[in-house]
Amino acid sequence: MATVNDNFLALRSNYLFAEIARKVAVFKESDPDRRVISLGIGDVTRPLVPAVTAALRRAVEEMGEAAHFRGYGPEQGYAFLREAVVEHDYRPRGVDVAPDEIFVSDGAKCDVGNFQELFAKDSIVAVTDPVYPVYVDSNVMTGRAGTYSGGRWQRIVYLPCVRENDFVPDFPGTRPDIIYLCYPNNPTGTVLSRSALQGWVDYAGREGCVILYDSAYEAYIQDPGIPHSIYELDGAAEVAVEFRSFSKTAGFTGLRCAYAVVPKGLRIDDGRGGKVGLNGLWNRRQCTKYNGCPYIVQRAAEAVYSAEGKRQTREVIEGYLHNAALLGDAVKKMGLEIYGGVNAPYIWVGVPKETDSWSFFDRLLHSAALVCTPGAGFGASGEGYVRLTAFGTPEDTREAIVRLQEQC
Ligand code: PLP
Repeated sequence: MATVNDNFLALRSNYLFAEIARKVAVFKESDPDRRVISLGIGDVTRPLVPAVTAALRRAVEEMGEAAHFRGYGPEQGYAFLREAVVEHDYRPRGVDVAPDEIFVSDGAKCDVGNFQELFAKDSIVAVTDPVYPVYVDSNVMTGRAGTYSGGRWQRIVYLPCVRENDFVPDFPGTRPDIIYLCYPNNPTGTVLSRSALQGWVDYAGREGCVILYDSAYEAYIQDPGIPHSIYELDGAAEVAVEFRSFSKTAGFTGLRCAYAVVPKGLRIDDGRGGKVGLNGLWNRRQCTKYNGCPYIVQRAAEAVYSAEGKRQTREVIEGYLHNAALLGDAVKKMGLEIYGGVNAPYIWVGVPKETDSWSFFDRLLHSAALVCTPGAGFGASGEGYVRLTAFGTPEDTREAIVRLQEQC
């Protein structure tokens, strides 16, 4: 009989969202007339912008014409999109990235989940805590995380990000091989300054680590001092892979398009006394396991970079950031500490000292019919916080604010 890869049996069940759904269902049953508003969703609510839907329609028409029909596309993405990425996301920031260092995909979740395949099974992985769970679970599936005890994986190095260190992770005591960094951060909504990120790039260079840099929320950065790309920092092209996504930038969560940047100068130990480039290995991996993001979706992503596309997506992002600012003010008026929400669509709220993140979740649900996400669900260092997201509709956000004000 076939035997399971028992790393899959070691995975922790997705307790967080299942438990939230259960509690919300119980509440709705007890109070069916109360409309529950979720401030916990990590999905966008605003539709695709007109520049994107027009490009999609044009591409659909092309696919129905013999002269323009396209079958399998390049596994790495079409040149038109890879060149647009270089031209619009990197060149204006003085970053020298070549189109063949860009790998288009159908999502940053797959890219950040899959990239770990390129590293030795015994590699040591470091993650910030609290953390986007994909980084941890994909390494558990490979058998790299060790055993789970006391709420932590024994072979994972956790880098706490808490108010005491201003949400800037300290360098670890144990040298990791792979470091996952996500800025602007999900779930805390905090960012890294240029000097803090340079510190991590220098650390990785000194210690021979690779940084997997997830910048899915890059488009939300407002502060001109915050780097948009890790490659704005000296030496990053030798130590870092960057992941970007059109999901939160342009509402593509249902359409699916993202890209990874794998610089040709990024080389790691080949275990035989030499070095090997990650660009070639990722290319090989993608060509073997992936047949490319749909042509029509890549044309839609290209339209995000048109003048109209840029203006329209900017307006949507500003709308979400406006929600974040209003929510943040309302929470502050409740006398609570807030972090994030300025350069990110997430607000990280410090819950009152006498309570914990799940009790605060219960309080908001029962007294205001509002749903947040308990920070403890993102890792041990998330205890004492809850996450609010700014992705709600303007109407729901306004209503949520009224209900929060009633809590003051
Ligand atoms: N990375 C982070 C940090 C995220 O929060 C998310 C989605 O919530 C993703 C990646 C997934 O992006 P995509 O929709 O491109 O798969």
